[in-house]
This record gives sequence, C-alpha cells and structure tokens, in this order.
Amino acid sequence: MHVTVLGSAANGGIPQWDCCCLNCTAARNNQKLRRTRSSIAISLNAEEYVLVDAGPDLKFQLESVGLIPKLNEAGPNFRQSRINAVLLTHGHGDHTVGVAEFSTGKSFNIPVYGPSDLIELLFGVNGRLNYFGELGRLAKDYVKPRILTENEEFFLLDGLKVEGFPIDHTDKLSDGQYYPSRTFGFEFMIDGKRLVYTPDLGKLSDSLVKKLNGVDVFFMDATFWWNNELDRVSGIKKTSYDLGHVPVEESMEILKSIDIGQIIYTHINHTNSLADPNSIYSKKVKENGFKLAYDGMTFTI
Ligand SMILES: [Zn+2]
Ligand SMILES: [Zn+2]
Ligand SMILES: [Zn+2]
Repeated sequence: MHVTVLGSAANGGIPQWDCCCLNCTAARNNQKLRRTRSSIAISLNAEEYVLVDAGPDLKFQLESVGLIPKLNEAGPNFRQSRINAVLLTHGHGDHTVGVAEFSTGKSFNIPVYGPSDLIELLFGVNGRLNYFGELGRLAKDYVKPRILTENEEFFLLDGLKVEGFPIDHTDKLSDGQYYPSRTFGFEFMIDGKRLVYTPDLGKLSDSLVKKLNGVDVFFMDATFWWNNELDRVSGIKKTSYDLGHVPVEESMEILKSIDIGQIIYTHINHTNSLADPNSIYSKKVKENGFKLAYDGMTFTI
C-alpha cells in the first residue's frame, strides 16, 4: 500500500488567509512550513489512487505530488483520471469542497463514497435542488455518489479492503441527526497490513482503541495541542473538544499505551505549535516515537 499525504493542515491551512500569528507569518516567509488542507491518496501500483477527502486545495495538491494525467496514456483527447474513487469522512468544507473540481467536462464517473447523510447533503435527495448534485451537475454528469453504511467492507483498486466506521467529531443535534453530517473514519487493509485514517476525531472511544490495536499506521487528528488553544492564541472561547477534536496533549498519553506500528499526526491547525517542526512540542511528539505528517510525505507499508 503506497500512501501520499496531499495535505496536513486543519480547516484554514497554514498560513490561514486572515491570520498573522507566529506560525502563519513563519509559513509566509518559508515555503517549507506551508500546509494545505488534510487529505491522503492511497495506491497499490502508484498509478491509480483512492483519495480520502477532497478539500479546497485539491487541484494544487494533485499537481504538486504528480498525480496528473500521463501524456502517453491519456489518448487523443488528453484526458485521464488517475483517481479511482473518493472517500469522504464528513461534511465540513475542508474535507469536501474539492469534489467540485471533478466538474470539468469529462465524465469519469468517479465513485464518491460517504455516510448517507453526507451523500444526501452534497448531492441531494429525491431530486431536490442541491449545489453539487444539480447546480454543479456533479452527480448528474460527472461522479457517482455512493452511500456507505457503517462498518460495511468493500474493495477498491486491485484488492484494497476498505471499511468506513462511525467516529465522534461532528455535532449531534437534539433530534439525533448530525450537523452537517456524521463522521466516518476509514480503515484500509491488504496483505495483512492495516492503515486507519481519522483526521478529525473528537474521542478515542473504546471501540476505536480496540480497532487500533495492531494497526500498522494510524493517522490521528492533531488540530490543537491544548484544549484551550484557540483562546490562548486567537482569543476564541471554543475549546478543542467543543469543536470535536481530542487535543494532542491528551491523545498522546492514550495512544502511547496502544500497540500501533506508526502514529502520524495530521490536520494541524495554524495555532498549534506542531506547525513548527522545531518547537519543543514537535520534539516531544518525536521523542514518543510519533511522526508529524507533512504535505508530500510518502511511504509504503
Ligand atoms: Zn477538518
Ligand atoms: Zn495563524
Ligand atoms: Zn471537521
């Protein structure tokens, strides 16, 4: 299983357009510190890829990692998709708005998988007018929306087993619905190797901890280091838990005791000291044997 990190930042990327905090200023001055919105691509042959989440930076991410059409394969019309399927974790914009990129006039019928309420939110239900589905013509002409039921196992590419499972992140309303949709984590399995991806995670539940036992690679939410980080840096009173993210300070303690091959922190917010690879916090993460994701990171398991 070949893994490419397309992006490793939270909702606003680094730098964030409206911010000049230390991390954002450093990233403006040093290209290497920039991070785009979180997404990974998985392949078995380094030719065709499954995309997990599609954020606002998608087009530039595909260009920068070279996931682009090949002239010798694209044929006389110069069009080729090397994206075999798209899996969406949840309805927040940093994970979904890149789907609009697929409305470029050539229908590759790429299947777009997600929880039922997310697919309905993005592509409409019962013919009701909806931006992606109708106005953007995506579901009409370009992609194939596919509803995933929880813990349903299915296969992509040439034998990659995939399972979407429910996790805590998005708000649960009083009527039992989730806003703007439920959240899934994804597990990928082939040849006895397992990878779990949860870029946005509000709780390391017992069932998730059980699943993580023995996993080879686990991508974990690293939006905030502290629970009160937004207040400390930006004067915003919302806590990490309010926004559906386990702070790294706490997740690291829990994850240390679980048998996981490699933990990779991703979805890093501009307020988080992990955005600086030389901060004492980044050093602490590395001392515990964890890694920090970065844009363009690749590895094979
Ligand atoms: Zn997010
Ligand atoms: Zn900032
Ligand atoms: Zn989110």
